[in-house]
Amino acid sequence: MTNRQIFLQHVGQTSTEPLCLEIVKAAGVEMWDVNGKRFIDLIAGISVCNVGHCHPEVVAAVQGQASEYMHLLVYGEFVQAPQVRYAAALTQQLPPTLNSVYFTNSGAEATEGAMKLAKRYTGRSKIIAFNHSYHGSTQGALSIIGDEFWRQAYRPLLPDVYHYNYNSNEVLAAIDEQTACVIMETVQAEKGIIKPAGEWIAKIEQRCKATGTLFILDEIQTGFGRTGTLWAFEQYGVVPDILLLGKALGGGMPLGAFVADKQIMDSFTVSPVLGHITTFGGHPVSCAGGLAAFEVLTRESLYKQVEAKTELFLRLLKHHQILDVRAAGLWMAVEFDSFSTCKRVIDACIAKGLITDWFLFAPNCLRIAPPLTISENEIVEACEIILACLSAGD
Ligand code: PLP
Repeated sequence: MTNRQIFLQHVGQTSTEPLCLEIVKAAGVEMWDVNGKRFIDLIAGISVCNVGHCHPEVVAAVQGQASEYMHLLVYGEFVQAPQVRYAAALTQQLPPTLNSVYFTNSGAEATEGAMKLAKRYTGRSKIIAFNHSYHGSTQGALSIIGDEFWRQAYRPLLPDVYHYNYNSNEVLAAIDEQTACVIMETVQAEKGIIKPAGEWIAKIEQRCKATGTLFILDEIQTGFGRTGTLWAFEQYGVVPDILLLGKALGGGMPLGAFVADKQIMDSFTVSPVLGHITTFGGHPVSCAGGLAAFEVLTRESLYKQVEAKTELFLRLLKHHQILDVRAAGLWMAVEFDSFSTCKRVIDACIAKGLITDWFLFAPNCLRIAPPLTISENEIVEACEIILACLSAGD
């Protein structure tokens, strides 16, 4: 059997038409398949490889840590240098109230932990979330996902969860003294890059403060420089009570986190103790890799080049079949008239050596979220491929 046959037969599948690309090597913005075909990666493993694939410093940190120790004991018992050092580095780059990091395995687990923490800290159960939001695929995260199509097969889900439209003021009146938390993405990802309007997000923060509700921002995709600042919330003048991190947090290794004030986080330590338990959360090898990536990102100020690179994309992506390009830094949704146009372009791009994708709730939009290290030449090459694939359908 070929690897492809084994993959289809013996590896659990999530769709009837997986891409089935067999990549054997990835470096920077490039990947190569078993036949030696080169690809430009325009999606960075869905906003993961912000410092590029296999950055030498990340690889060295992972190898170095793996040779010292890997798993020792469940999260939260031993003092493990990679976790400690990464927590210190992260909190140094965050507002003073975000000073305690709970490391998890994934973004979804960060969502779960944060919702539990909000319930514990406030003693309330009501949760407010947003239509077209995505926070993960586990049952708690599914309960707050903003689309009935994805929720309906798993009912009953968490009770006391209410959805409102992103950018609508209706939500403000719904935030009350019974609300444990409002959870939202700083910029909505899967509807195809939707930014918060005007002062709206600040009003939500204020309403949360006034009612003792915890304000949770999901920066699992927007974090680590993708939108042009280290954290997207910096651009909106707000500070969350709990921040969700994942994806680029591990520099390519599996890692998530929720970050809060220690006084909030300590709710997990008593009555009952062990408020959230995880065996592998904050795995030392993941933390070592993540810290190395974070050091590269912050030392080289990679996010400061994001604006110029975004402008280059926007300048080049002009075509009569492109209806709109919404961008939040190096994170763009290129909108077409339909899913079939988008799918045709994506398939043609992959055939020409450009990896891209669509969005969960915006299948007519092509996703651009490359490693932040992408060069001008690679941007030009990627845009030329997209435009050629579009013109082929004229
Ligand atoms: N939150 C957002 C905004 C995401 O985009 C994702 C994943 O795509 C998640 C949470 C869940 O992260 P994970 O897939 O690591 O569970």
